[in-house]
Amino acid sequence: MDIPRIFTITESAHRIHNPLTPDKLATLGAALRLKTGARVLDLGSGSGEMLCTWARDHGITGLGVDLSRLFTEQAKLRAEELGVADRVEFIHGDAAGFVADQKVDVAACVGATWIGGGVAGTIALLEKSLRPGGIILIGEPYWRQAPSTQDVAKGCLVESISEYLILPELLASFGELGYDVVEMVLADQEGWDRYEAAKWLTMRRWLENNPNDEMATEVRAQLTSEPMRFARYTREYLGWGVFALMVR
Ligand code: SAH
Repeated sequence: MDIPRIFTITESAHRIHNPLTPDKLATLGAALRLKTGARVLDLGSGSGEMLCTWARDHGITGLGVDLSRLFTEQAKLRAEELGVADRVEFIHGDAAGFVADQKVDVAACVGATWIGGGVAGTIALLEKSLRPGGIILIGEPYWRQAPSTQDVAKGCLVESISEYLILPELLASFGELGYDVVEMVLADQEGWDRYEAAKWLTMRRWLENNPNDEMATEVRAQLTSEPMRFARYTREYLGWGVFALMVR
């Protein structure tokens, strides 16, 4: 059981698999006013950067679940590197339906809301692990500017315009689900560059080392087309943020 291999090729060198920079991830950790010993659950924890750095900086304890074997291994190595391996645990597996044994203070899903079948379903899933009064974190894209045609959405690798909302609508949708938005940290275009452009050098190096791999043609094609596609579409049209929610 694992994620499609293309992601483990293009994102193998990423510590953060989303458009937040290390600075913004730290800003988010500080913004939440985490207390030492606070428990944080992270569904789709990737390479574990959020839990590991917050354990180091704020003394939280964390549990991460991720479907990628590679990313989960990298998360465990990162925990050792930062000296927090006794405080964070990473499990390889499907997070769909995952509920923590012990209630947590913060329940997060940052850039992986398909795990619960969309934002509403993911909030409902996270709620099952959350202590009363706890905080839910959702990392999700929104339209910086609403695309004028479906072709623009497709250029952003989004199926349809209706898949995402513009920011005020996204914030309103949390209210409609019964939540206050109590904090948010938004990515910017330079953060998008760190997430997307970092894939290009990784792809280039991977191609040099794996010229005969069955994925080489696909990776070659992506490396050729991605910089222009990204600059024309994703970088201009797509926003991305982490939203902190508390039951109203
Ligand atoms: N939250 C991390 C990773 C975001 S990328 C970060 O921001 O850095 C999306 C992550 O979801 C990837 O790590 C991928 O492996 C993971 N993922 C995809 N489907 C999953 C599933 N069903 N269960 C758990 N993790 C999943």
